[in-house]
Amino acid sequence: MTDIYAGPVFEMARTQFHRIADRLELPDGQRSRLLYPKRAMTISCPIHLDSGEVAVFQGYRVQHHLTLGPTKGGTRFAPNVDIGEVAALAVWMSWKCALAGLPYGGAKGGITVDPRQLSLRELEALSRRYMQEMIPFVGPHIDVMAPDMGTNEQVMAWFMDTYSMHHGRTVSEIVTGKPVSAGGITGRREATGLGTAHLIERAMQTTNLDPGKCTAVIQGFGNVGSVTALELVRRGVKVIGVSDHTACYVDKRGLDIEALDRYATANGHLSGFSSELLSDPKELLTTECDVLVPAAMERVIHADTARRLKCRIIAEAANGPTTPDADDVLDTERPEILVIPDILCNSGGVIVSYFEWVQGLQQVFWNRDTVVAKLCELLDDAFSKVIAKASSEKISNRVAAITIGVQRIMDAKQSRGLFP
Ligand code: NAD
Repeated sequence: MTDIYAGPVFEMARTQFHRIADRLELPDGQRSRLLYPKRAMTISCPIHLDSGEVAVFQGYRVQHHLTLGPTKGGTRFAPNVDIGEVAALAVWMSWKCALAGLPYGGAKGGITVDPRQLSLRELEALSRRYMQEMIPFVGPHIDVMAPDMGTNEQVMAWFMDTYSMHHGRTVSEIVTGKPVSAGGITGRREATGLGTAHLIERAMQTTNLDPGKCTAVIQGFGNVGSVTALELVRRGVKVIGVSDHTACYVDKRGLDIEALDRYATANGHLSGFSSELLSDPKELLTTECDVLVPAAMERVIHADTARRLKCRIIAEAANGPTTPDADDVLDTERPEILVIPDILCNSGGVIVSYFEWVQGLQQVFWNRDTVVAKLCELLDDAFSKVIAKASSEKISNRVAAITIGVQRIMDAKQSRGLFP
């Protein structure tokens, strides 16, 4: 098969997949069917800049498989977005949804743009034009979008409004992660970070660590990183290091996370918060701590970093932060580190997105306590399954998690058969 997805991020998903396929002894034909996306769209989005000039941005949407229901996945606005990265993120979404037992295939979308370089008006124009171009390919029963890096509740509200204007009626279930005022669900904004913190607590129980005596380091202080930090502090954990793309702060006595969160919300970044606590971002991941939370980008923990880690738990809040080479090191040389793999760790976001979609379709509404209780129930179930499989089959938590996901998709494809 010609590979339009070639690139480092898709290569990583491919390597992970083949490791599982080898274990399951899958024939080649079945491998291609399970790995390659069903559909991939590339679009051009022209908009008027404030200067009066016209700029054209490249956008993508990849729908991985349609076997279990509509596809579901976030939308990333970032300068390095390309079709290979989007495809890998769609594949990971498929495994994540299958592991959590959600009736979805994975999807992902994005635009190659630095949203911080756009004015609010330009960002709105680009968001609306992107959704307009995607209208033929998405729908509440076809493909449902959500936020990811560089997008937020506001962008989802523009997506929903654009789709609804086209259809002549409000279609709130076309996106999740909307503001509550526009049909969103209470708790979606915090869901990924809250789920991450909940699973870290479960991992601490598994490793007999007392949250009140633990320290954490978090890379990335956006939606996921900041909420994870706040939730860990609420559980008694001392957060001693945080970073974003502008600054890195470390304080062994514990950082004032609420003050950092207020600062980041007001300024949009961490730089300028303190000059005394500034630290080298290159050293952040190898800072001595109990819990390391990568919550920014993919491929930040390589083999060499894995050898130098000084943590007991890695909670992968970001998608794809650990390379397959680093996995080899963790498996063979660092068995003392418990990894909560990304497709489990950050699944709180898509789980609550699923609740939001169901609410929109049925026009029912749950309160926050119900949402959090249902979220924790699904996370606990997935966590227990992964830990049990890993321990009984003597495999890593990542291999266990991906195997459960791939197997569910495979079983569904097998029982439905191959059309025609
Ligand atoms: P966001 O845009 O809100 O925040 C991203 C953060 O990463 C920002 O603080 C940014 O400054 C920081 N960052 C970027 N480059 C960095 C660098 N080189 N060093 C340190 N920090 C850097 O994005 P988000 O929604 O918090 O997503 C973060 C990660 O979580 C992504 O991998 C995303 O795919 C994943 N994720 C998000 C959700 C969700 O619900 N938002 C769900 C599942 C997974």
